[in-house]
Amino acid sequence: MSETYDAIVIGAGVIGAAIGLELARSGRRVLNVDRLPAAGYGSTGNSCAIIRVHYSTLDGTALAYDSYFDWKGWADYLGAPDERGLAEFRDCGCLVMKTEQNGRLTRIVDTVSRLNIPFEEWDADRIRTALPIYDLKRYWPARRMDDPAFATPAGGQLDGGVYFPTAGYVNDPQLASHNLQRAAEAAGGRFLFNRTVVAIPVANGRVQGVELDDGTRVAAPVVVNVAGPHSGKVNALAGAERDMTITTRPIRQEVVHVDAPDGFDVARSGMVVSDSDIACYVRPETGNHILVGSEDPECDPREVVDPDGFDRNLSEQAITQAYRFAQRVPSLTVASRPKGVVDLYDVSDDWIPIYDRSCVDGFFMAIGTSGNQFKNAPGAGRLMARLIEHVENGGDHDARAMPFHLKHVEHTVDTATFSRRRRVNPDSSFSVLG
Ligand SMILES: Cc1cc2nc3c(=O)[nH]c(=O)nc-3n(C[C@H](O)[C@H](O)[C@H](O)COP(=O)(O)OP(=O)(O)OC[C@H]3O[C@@H](n4cnc5c(N)ncnc54)[C@H](O)[C@@H]3O)c2cc1C
Repeated sequence: MSETYDAIVIGAGVIGAAIGLELARSGRRVLNVDRLPAAGYGSTGNSCAIIRVHYSTLDGTALAYDSYFDWKGWADYLGAPDERGLAEFRDCGCLVMKTEQNGRLTRIVDTVSRLNIPFEEWDADRIRTALPIYDLKRYWPARRMDDPAFATPAGGQLDGGVYFPTAGYVNDPQLASHNLQRAAEAAGGRFLFNRTVVAIPVANGRVQGVELDDGTRVAAPVVVNVAGPHSGKVNALAGAERDMTITTRPIRQEVVHVDAPDGFDVARSGMVVSDSDIACYVRPETGNHILVGSEDPECDPREVVDPDGFDRNLSEQAITQAYRFAQRVPSLTVASRPKGVVDLYDVSDDWIPIYDRSCVDGFFMAIGTSGNQFKNAPGAGRLMARLIEHVENGGDHDARAMPFHLKHVEHTVDTATFSRRRRVNPDSSFSVLG
């Protein structure tokens, strides 16, 4: 293979595939290359795929709300069929508990109000009506299970939360990536699997394309790093990390699956819940299961690992998360050897992604997705396609960040929020919540 493309996207996860789709729609001859056998087989495949609209920054919130409309109208957004069928967005809503840790959500409520995002204030009685299995005793701070005070109530009760109806989850994140692949192909894009990018030649300050592990060279004036947890390794191939103030690292994560308590029908009554009092987020799963993820409390290890060799077995962390959730749901039964998944977040210094160009002309990056950007794939695809067009037409994005007008939401994103050269954003949650 010695073809030439207008753009090469490294990675075919949900964001890589969405960028491939938008570049193809903009008329570019684009190739997505992935080292794995199919789209969405990397960290995307193990994503909880929660779609929610609350983030710590205005621009992060706006991007998430914009993409919500694409998930809601997935078939229309894709505009192309998939022989495997389409992933489904389950709009069960998301409840976020009000706690001291999240400032009782005053800033979040202010942000979503500015964007006209619908929300409801729920008091404790309303929460108990919606989730009768919940006990609202307070437990903060989160603890490890070997702490003698683990699961000891801290006194008092949670007294409310904010419910967002424009939220839910995608039932099959791998299929969603395949849907994006098929839509990109229908728009003229191409996908190459089982090929690893091993070198990224640069001449006179401009990227020349990529070299693959079978020795072939593919030429293109634009290359986009969407390599997920391999983002740092791929940036290093191009020498693109030189001027970055924000860096990325692969952090190991566990998500545990628990059975819903008897009598609780997850499909009918389940919803996404973010509960910083017990440092857990949960979402419904088929088979009357509940997925329990961590909201990254300080007592938990942040395990930076090699993306090419890490332990994929569940550890005590999974059981800890299950028992933290059992504090809220006392009728929960925790298996001694629970099921779940282990995968990697590509975490930036402030847990906010980087959607930017690089110091190498023609080399762009959509990385540092920090466990919270599955939902933003459609918006990130549009943002990156627009950014590439802007920069390749001479726009000096480093001197003046390109304004980006959202498709579904009346808001212009200040793309400096996602710059590789930004300062660490002190407003961030510094967790998966972004
Ligand atoms: C356990 C878990 C739970 C999550 N839950 C949520 C959630 O509920 N909601 C949410 O919004 N987000 C969530 N996320 C985050 C979300 O899944 C990611 O932000 C998103 O999937 C990233 O997509 P991507 O396309 O950037 O990367 P990936 O899916 O990681 O894809 C990167 C691809 O690049 C390929 N690649 C890497 N290096 C090379 C190379 N040298 N050559 C060729 N190919 C290469 C890899 O094979 C891989 O397929 C979660 C993540 C995890 C791990």
